[in-house]
Amino acid sequence: MCGFVGLVSDTPVAPALLLALQAIQHRGQDQAGLGTFDDRRLHLVKGDGLISQAIPPRAVPTLRGVAGIGHVRYPTAGSSFGPEDAQPFRTRQPGVLLAHNGNVTNVPELEAQLRADGWIVLSQCDAEPILLTFASALTKRRPAGHTRDDVAAAVEEVLDRVRGAFSVVAVLEVDGRPTLVGFRDRHGIRPGCYGRTPGGGWLASSESVALDVLGGEHVGDLPAGGFVMLRHGEEPVVVDLGRRAPKPCVFERIYFARPDSQLEDGRVNRQRWRLARQLAREWKRRGLEADLVIPVPDTSTPAAMAMAQELGIPTREGFIKNRYSGRTFIMPDQATREAALRLKLNPIREMFEGKRVLLVDDSIVRGTTMRRIVALIRRLGPVEVHLAVFSPAVTNPCFYGIDMPTRAELVAAGHAPDALEAALCRYFETESVTYLSLDGLRDVLSADVCDACFTGDYVVPVSAAERAAIEAERRA
Ligand code: SF4
Repeated sequence: MCGFVGLVSDTPVAPALLLALQAIQHRGQDQAGLGTFDDRRLHLVKGDGLISQAIPPRAVPTLRGVAGIGHVRYPTAGSSFGPEDAQPFRTRQPGVLLAHNGNVTNVPELEAQLRADGWIVLSQCDAEPILLTFASALTKRRPAGHTRDDVAAAVEEVLDRVRGAFSVVAVLEVDGRPTLVGFRDRHGIRPGCYGRTPGGGWLASSESVALDVLGGEHVGDLPAGGFVMLRHGEEPVVVDLGRRAPKPCVFERIYFARPDSQLEDGRVNRQRWRLARQLAREWKRRGLEADLVIPVPDTSTPAAMAMAQELGIPTREGFIKNRYSGRTFIMPDQATREAALRLKLNPIREMFEGKRVLLVDDSIVRGTTMRRIVALIRRLGPVEVHLAVFSPAVTNPCFYGIDMPTRAELVAAGHAPDALEAALCRYFETESVTYLSLDGLRDVLSADVCDACFTGDYVVPVSAAERAAIEAERRA
């Protein structure tokens, strides 16, 4: 899970890039970076932590240039410690700056080919093989002075050789001008959009909220199986290189994207509202009852409102989320683990005591946090605790850029469908657990989506060896 912004303008871009990047901080908090393209020089600052930690304000004036890229990282490959794996990445010859969001599943194969071509891979981050594959294809055509046709050939080579999911922005000189290039894998699994900024510039971003921050206008999505070339003062050039059936990630709609972002099929907030109403209808058909609907903050708040409206029962804020608690280390004993959870999410006694409560959450992956949340509120004396989840059960890991544990760690995996609820009620200590049905999900979403983490139907095949390598890296 990562996020990027890319900007091309006729004035220095670093301050605006930094602002836009902050709009997508939720997509990665482990590392951040900002790079700019300045009359054939590439400037780059990257480091560990939040944007404010990784990019000190004193560095911004040194990032000169009218085109650049910012990135926030939550690693699904490589380490999260030390700037060598942070993005963006750059090559000097040809001068290219590049960042991506996604997960490349055939890194060893790409690295072997790159080494054979004389390239040295310096990091464990999968953005680097994308960059070097792109740069290698450019230099095979000519060492410098690249044209639009060279870019088309280089993007096509990436699309053909890189497997997995990737949404990419790059900055380089094309036809003698600083140019922003954006493209996605042929199915468009990871999100990416672009739009006009005031004054004739162009911004590409993982989410449209970055455009909102700059007062920009959303124009379209980064092409899947093609690319868009953006230059200040010019209309975008969109080139199709052979897209396949679009399969955008359903998890962006359920959990990951900001509710105010606009994806291919509309505003995320609206999708969540509709998913929750569908879940409410399915919950009602089960004949269950509750006194209060309580969201597990934050993603579930609009969904809880929608469920409460559909069910005709009130919704209340049952937990106070501490926004300043930061990351807690894994605690060795139960008491300190509980203290860490309470620091983040403190339940309000009166909302639970003597009540039949319906907790609403977006998804359950490992289930360990939900188990601790229920244990906390059980002490407050609720009569019944029901759990409703506005996504189907996650039974398969993601290999396309959302950091999920191995299958063995997924709480809903490994149960027969008719035994799942009983097993989860025992584990969470709830009276019921209701997932949104897969049919319900498909009825609500207008886009044909990737739903492999619910179904196991991976749109881009992942070989057994590739799965084993990715899972071993996650365990490590
Ligand atoms: S497997 Fe799940 S999380 Fe991964 S891209 Fe597909 S829908 Fe998204």
